[in-house]
Amino acid sequence: MFDCHTHSTYSPDSIATMFDACKIALQNNLSGIIFTDHYELDLKGANYVFNFDVKKRSQEINNLNLNFKNNFKILEGLEVGFQPHIKQELSNIIKSHDFDFIIASIHSVEKEFISNGQYYQNRTKQEAFNKYLEEIYKSVTQFNDYDVVGHIGYVRRYGNLQDRSMHFKDYPEILNAILKEVIKNNKGIEINSSGYRDILQTPVPNYDIITKYKKLGGQIITLGSDSHKAQTIGHSFDIIKDNLKNLGFKYIAHYEKREPKFTKI
Ligand SMILES: [Zn+2]
Ligand SMILES: [Zn+2]
Repeated sequence: MFDCHTHSTYSPDSIATMFDACKIALQNNLSGIIFTDHYELDLKGANYVFNFDVKKRSQEINNLNLNFKNNFKILEGLEVGFQPHIKQELSNIIKSHDFDFIIASIHSVEKEFISNGQYYQNRTKQEAFNKYLEEIYKSVTQFNDYDVVGHIGYVRRYGNLQDRSMHFKDYPEILNAILKEVIKNNKGIEINSSGYRDILQTPVPNYDIITKYKKLGGQIITLGSDSHKAQTIGHSFDIIKDNLKNLGFKYIAHYEKREPKFTKI
């Protein structure tokens, strides 16, 4: 298996050097790793600049690949923060380099970071979650230059919520529309294991959404830890893999040169 969602020090909020991340991935018997550093533009009140020198990272990844050999693959990805008004700039950066993998994520609504908590003020949970899901719907209908939709349910992690669940039954129409669009366009969804490291104790998205995706005909799933430090590379993959098998999935994908490669589980 590959860890398809990891942040290196090319992301300003990560402390994982690429070398350390690769070492831990190998220790955890992974076949490879994809560095999906942040690419975000035009955010209100962001503490960091979430973009980086793609060519410099690429050179470093080439060198690491020479170092690690042994059939361990180190691949180049991006996690782009989709916003409707910057979709052209995102497409330009994606087309400017030979990436292996692109995750399209929603981290902000109307230029405001979801993670800073203000997003939840003056909104009920239902409103906050619906607005977030509507942004995902925009990303999958207005943008085509991605491979998988990142962490559907990211909004569960933040805000002062009593109940952080996002079940399919509570948001059926918008989730149905998102999943159908993803499948129609031959894209995939990622299963983000970071929820097992925090209060959620589920993957993101939750299993009932993954089940619905499968029922609708969805086959492409990637697995990612969303690590911002090396120690969490591959975190909880075994438990998620077993649960995915029980749900009837036979393959997990990773991407190389923007093409899905399937591994039997
Ligand atoms: Zn993300
Ligand atoms: Zn991430």
